Amino acid sequence: MMQARSDRMRRQFKTIVFVPTMGFLHEGHLSLVREGKKHGDDLVVSIFVNPAQFAPGEDLESYPRDLDRDLELLREEGVDAVFNPDAKEIYGKEFQTYVELKKLPNHLCGISRPIFFKGVATVVAKLFNIVKPHVTVFGQKDYQQLVIIRQMVRDLGFDIEVVGAPTVREPDGLAMSSRNAYLAPEQRTSALSLYKSLQKAQELLENGIQDATIIIDAATELIQSLPETKIDYIAICDTETLVDIKTIDKPVLMALAVKVGKARLIDNMILNPQLD
Ligand code: AMP
Repeated sequence: MMQARSDRMRRQFKTIVFVPTMGFLHEGHLSLVREGKKHGDDLVVSIFVNPAQFAPGEDLESYPRDLDRDLELLREEGVDAVFNPDAKEIYGKEFQTYVELKKLPNHLCGISRPIFFKGVATVVAKLFNIVKPHVTVFGQKDYQQLVIIRQMVRDLGFDIEVVGAPTVREPDGLAMSSRNAYLAPEQRTSALSLYKSLQKAQELLENGIQDATIIIDAATELIQSLPETKIDYIAICDTETLVDIKTIDKPVLMALAVKVGKARLIDNMILNPQLD
């Protein structure tokens, strides 16, 4: 049905823009929708909690969901179509074809979540074939995901423009995430340490500290000083290859994942050295 709709839209020379999500929408998702509107005239949003990207023991079952609220928010934004498939519709009985990248998943989140990006790339490829967009919008909040999708689009020849959209934050700086719903009030303060440590890193760099280890140590200390935090990784790496960088002499990506209580949170920032 969605494929037939996409064909119809293409026959009408509409430019289809696609925003994939897992639902439980917040202002971050809505900013992607608003960005998408600038790039075309048929806006499609998918809501699909993708089983293939969750490992056993992760939060697939408990992932927050509120379809009615999501549909209302998307209606208010004037979205043209919402695609909310069943897992059975995406993964048929004999499903056996996966998209796997060789290098980009071997960093950051891919280390502690070894099947995650295979699940993401596979579902996004399938959604692309169903929605047939000309343009797609992904958030920089999930930076590694964004570079992986860009790579997959290049490697497999998808005729799709990938637009990256900036991270939307709460007024105090916490990156918006559906998983913030897991945070108890006292954990909320601990969660802010992700953003605080990124700000601290930029400040150290501005004060002339270019040694990534010193910056990562300062971030580690800041985060560990708060209750209920467990660092998965803190990395400073190349913005395109995601390979670790020791001395910061160009813009780099600083990315981190921290468990706060049972919520696994991620954040990142491009750090800019002041070069003369
Ligand atoms: P998710 O529903 O978490 O899979 O996210 C769907 C899309 O929204 C992805 O492209 C995310 O990068 C993006 N996104 C999630 N949180 C934010 C945020 N705080 N700011 C901007 N984009 C976001």
